[in-house]
Amino acid sequence: MGYADKVPVQRDLAPDDLIVVTGAGGFIGGALVRYFAEQGYTNLRAVDRKPLPQWYQRVPGAVCLSLDLSEKEHAARAVENAVEVYNLAADMGGMGFIEHFRVECLRSILINTHLIDAAWRAGARRYFFSSSACAYNTDLQKDPNARGLKESDAYPALAERGYGWEKLLSEMFCQEYWCERGLETHIARFHNIFGPRGTWFGGREKAPAAMCRKVIEAQDTGHYDIEIWGDGTQTRSFCYVDDCTYGIDRIMHCDDLIAVPINLGSEELISINDLVSMVEDIAGAKLQRRYDPDAPKGVAGRNSDNTFIRQVLGWEPSTPLRTGMEQTYAWIAEQYADRKAGKRVVED
Ligand code: NAD
Repeated sequence: MGYADKVPVQRDLAPDDLIVVTGAGGFIGGALVRYFAEQGYTNLRAVDRKPLPQWYQRVPGAVCLSLDLSEKEHAARAVENAVEVYNLAADMGGMGFIEHFRVECLRSILINTHLIDAAWRAGARRYFFSSSACAYNTDLQKDPNARGLKESDAYPALAERGYGWEKLLSEMFCQEYWCERGLETHIARFHNIFGPRGTWFGGREKAPAAMCRKVIEAQDTGHYDIEIWGDGTQTRSFCYVDDCTYGIDRIMHCDDLIAVPINLGSEELISINDLVSMVEDIAGAKLQRRYDPDAPKGVAGRNSDNTFIRQVLGWEPSTPLRTGMEQTYAWIAEQYADRKAGKRVVED
């Protein structure tokens, strides 16, 4: 937990070089701004479409701007004088959101298209894009005993409709801005990032947060049952947010990873049924399971193959799922209690 076990990152950055993080009102973007503030960077610009009161976290000292980056002028404003740009902005959510709102997911192409062009015009030194495991060929994900997906498995392409194709095409923009225009770009394919200070209710939340909330709700209401999407045998790996922010930093500052997509995920595979059992165990509760076969459940199995990241960085995300889930559960339990007491909490 934390960054103590991680080697320092070599960066050619002055403490007051301007770092721009987009999607900073959301989960990973917010965590990344905090991470850079903790690393001693003093010139941080945080950008998100949401009005400021709805941001999950606002880091003291960072300049926070509410801009819609699908508008060209806003994208240009966001990256003025930037030395590094981290694009974490996207219209996205858990499986329920990305299966039902494919148009919204596809429209995130506008964000990256304008932002990368603006970063190039502004003379930014580096540009980071947050891609996803949903960019991988879905034909390779039909078995719950998922073999890890390696970077070359994105092609021949058969990405997740909507969200996954947007990621794949935006990756290509990053590669071509490097090849044709010389903007140094870095691309990570995230595998299910989770942790405190993310969406935990409202329809955009991911499985780990949803499980925690459902178990907390059951304990609070005395209705000890839980709805599980699909039959619960589908498998995933989940990567803790501290590993994600550190991994982004390592990937962005690695010369061997210019315009080369790389997995950023854990190899610890778990079924949704076992994830529920883990949360029950953390909470000290036992729930009756109801299965909804018609609910969105995504691919049957998906795992990260970390051979490449181990080889190129000598590091991989290693926070045990159980440790990360304990942190996440504790934070959601706090949020739940605060909401019940009428206090302001992280919104959807
Ligand atoms: P999030 O929804 O918490 O944050 C995304 C933020 O982008 C939101 O705050 C949203 O308001 C903002 N945004 C959306 N449209 C915008 C626009 N037009 N202009 C400005 N801001 C806009 O999501 P997250 O989990 O923090 O994800 C961050 C990035 O990582 C996204 O690109 C996402 O696709 C990618 N990713 C996340 C996961 C995961 O498990 N969380 C997995 C794979 C990829």
